[in-house]
Amino acid sequence: EIVVVGSLNMDIRLTVDRIPHSGETISATGLKRSPGGKGGNQAVAAARLGRRVAMVGAVGDDDAGREIADRLGAEGLTTRAVAQLTDVPTGTAVILWEQPESTIVIEAGANARVDEAYVREHADTVRYARIVLCQCETPLGALAAVVDLAQGVKILNPAPAVAVPREIRDGFNILVPNRFELATLANANTVPRTLEGVVALAKSLEFPGSVVVTLGEDGSVVIPNGGRDAVHVPAIPVNAIDTTAAGDSFCAALADGLLRGEDLVGAARWAARVAAVTTTKHGAIESLPYPTDIPNPTLL
Ligand code: ADP
Repeated sequence: EIVVVGSLNMDIRLTVDRIPHSGETISATGLKRSPGGKGGNQAVAAARLGRRVAMVGAVGDDDAGREIADRLGAEGLTTRAVAQLTDVPTGTAVILWEQPESTIVIEAGANARVDEAYVREHADTVRYARIVLCQCETPLGALAAVVDLAQGVKILNPAPAVAVPREIRDGFNILVPNRFELATLANANTVPRTLEGVVALAKSLEFPGSVVVTLGEDGSVVIPNGGRDAVHVPAIPVNAIDTTAAGDSFCAALADGLLRGEDLVGAARWAARVAAVTTTKHGAIESLPYPTDIPNPTLL
């Protein structure tokens, strides 16, 4: 049903009171190690919502890689297209967690091998998916291959912020940036603050499909294709304690909503409910909800 083409990382998360200065050593107050990466998070999020999900990605032939592959399997994902490569390490993210924000350094490792040729090796998996979900933690060539191969709905979450070339970007059906990623996509030097500013910047992309811009606690705005009016979808008020993976959760739930037969606005409303629950729990994968965690899960 859903194929995620994207990154798999081992997240090493250190809780700190502050970010150290250059050359300084400080002590962490906590350590958590867990599988992550935007690709992995989105794949697990969709699987937990009840979708059949296949992952296209790569890890190293090391302990972290085996742990990630085992975890994805345990979450019910198809991992046939997750290679364990012998000559590169598993992607690693070192996260300095200073409530409420993270400072992150990533070593792409095996994720750098998830390029055009790699995705083409898994052409059949990509070709027949109903929805293909992509992000920007793997080479742009992977996106080009998805655009070329996939017959289903192609969704791009252009995160982290990357100026995706227009010829690749325009091959997708739906873009899901946050406002910073939108500014990068549009080559704007300021990040839009108002809803009107966000909508104007999204329209300036002249993207042939639809754009859904996530706005954190301000919800999201859906800009449908064909010049129809933008629709603001409010966030669900919750006691947010950790917004890690909120965007990943939103993207996966958007895909789930579309497969439930909702239009894009309906899917964004569902995604807001799922992402809101994600912010009420700590961590990335650990915070991704099951339908039973969401109030009135059958009601969209
Ligand atoms: P990203 O983490 O990718 O920047 P956002 O911060 O925009 O993504 O969050 C994605 C979605 O998660 C939002 O559109 C919103 O629906 C939900 N969300 C994020 N923060 C909150 C919050 N504080 N309260 C409720 N929902 C939130």
